Amino acid sequence: MIGGAKKIVAFTGAGVSEESGIPTFRDPGGLWERFDPNELGGGDIFSNLFAGAGTPSGSLEFMSEILSVLKEATPNPGHQALADLESMGFSISVITQNIDNLHREGGNSRVIEVHGNIFRLVCLNCGEKQMLAREELFRLGDELVGFLEAGDFESLIKLASRCGCGGICRPDVVGFGEPVQDMPQAIEEAKTCDLLLILGTSGAVYPAAYLPGHAKKAGAKIIEINATQCCFQEMADIRIIAKTGDALPLIVERVRELRRGIQQ
Ligand SMILES: [Zn+2]
Repeated sequence: MIGGAKKIVAFTGAGVSEESGIPTFRDPGGLWERFDPNELGGGDIFSNLFAGAGTPSGSLEFMSEILSVLKEATPNPGHQALADLESMGFSISVITQNIDNLHREGGNSRVIEVHGNIFRLVCLNCGEKQMLAREELFRLGDELVGFLEAGDFESLIKLASRCGCGGICRPDVVGFGEPVQDMPQAIEEAKTCDLLLILGTSGAVYPAAYLPGHAKKAGAKIIEINATQCCFQEMADIRIIAKTGDALPLIVERVRELRRGIQQ
């Protein structure tokens, strides 16, 4: 199925990042069990912060924890397998709900991040976006946490004023109640692929979870790999209960062998 695919779309979720040590938000033991999503999950946390309205309780711990897990996280075998498909010459796009930049780091060049990317900043004044190098984000993040701890609001604003227009920047991630990013492009990709891989996502978060439906309706084959249970029962042609990082590398290796066999 993969070997004959002309255009592959991989639709990935928190399960794929979890294998790189990034805790999920929604699952038992996830971040939203310990932190209040209503307080900390909204995009207005930044506008309130920069307006001098302060931050909700727990936000320091929340930011510190996210920074420290991101520092440790590197692409896992699942990310690698998707990058391998690209380097093998497949036309492959990744549509991800993850914000950790690991698909790009892993080596995929066409990545649509519907929930944003924490390594990218967006200007609250002019909307200009800028990508940060890994170390740059961590340096800024640590400084921000330091200024918050010290209650040094002036330095904090200075730190965040990073746009050429003089505007204040925030991480370009989608908070609760904010619109998802690049959805028309993601839907177009889903509608025009002939193979959709659903990887490590429960399909609980809309509108991203509608994407497999678009692909199915347009006639694509669907393979689902999820660690605990499959969530797209009616839609998937093949369902595999496994971690993406365990199953996908084996599948890609098999595709490689089959192709070699054909060439010989
Ligand atoms: Zn600007």
